[in-house]
Amino acid sequence: MDTPEERLAAVLENVAAAAARSGRTADDIELVAVSKTHDLDAIRRVAEAGHALFGESRVQEAKAKIPLLPGRLRWHFIGHLQKNKIRAALPLFELFHSVDSLEIAQQFQRIAGEEGHRPKVLLEVNVAGEASKFGFAPDKLQAQIDEVIALDRLEIVGLMAMAPLAPEPENSRPYFRELRELRDRLERDAGVGLPQLSMGMSGDYSVAIEEGATLVRVGSAIFGTRAGKKWSPAGGEDA
Ligand SMILES: *Cc1c(COP(=O)(O)O)cnc(C)c1O
Repeated sequence: MDTPEERLAAVLENVAAAAARSGRTADDIELVAVSKTHDLDAIRRVAEAGHALFGESRVQEAKAKIPLLPGRLRWHFIGHLQKNKIRAALPLFELFHSVDSLEIAQQFQRIAGEEGHRPKVLLEVNVAGEASKFGFAPDKLQAQIDEVIALDRLEIVGLMAMAPLAPEPENSRPYFRELRELRDRLERDAGVGLPQLSMGMSGDYSVAIEEGATLVRVGSAIFGTRAGKKWSPAGGEDA
């Protein structure tokens, strides 16, 4: 299992198996291959193996890489969005997973209006209340949801979360369940449709799918470890 092609095939098999356990099919789940820090050749190999949807977490890096890769590839933004990067990010991505505060949502609304875009977004929730993570606190999102959905330049299609780092995939299950239940409450109380749930990474994507994920963000299980890797625009390749 040491080529990206083999690892992609194994992940797709696991996605299909977990989808079946949740009463769905592989077509109900989108696999976002998280290519952050990885070089163009690595991304091309995964693309040539038949995969088209990739995730990046830094606007500068994505802006450098995307134009050099086949136009048929699709890109999702999964990182923390800084205010001063929103304008550059808008034309690059078909879905933003990580609108993580009312303030960012309002900035996004304003800039999307100026640029004539109507971006699709997910609202990131800090399900475990970790100080190190971005995202709406669950109770805050419930309090602010009406204000967020009133932002008419944003097409809000669901929620995103990360479980705390843990040794076992099962440790993530309560957090994924909490995100799904929060989604259900918001849909009921605010009368919004939030069909997409982005949850699950290399260590816990099968559990996330069992708990209702429609998007999983998988990096190292496809591309290999990122340890020590850093994208460098100068060489266009990793150091
Ligand atoms: C890096 C990253 C991932 C992928 O992590 P892996 O453990 O390599 O699968 C998923 N989601 C977000 C938000 C990330 O930043």
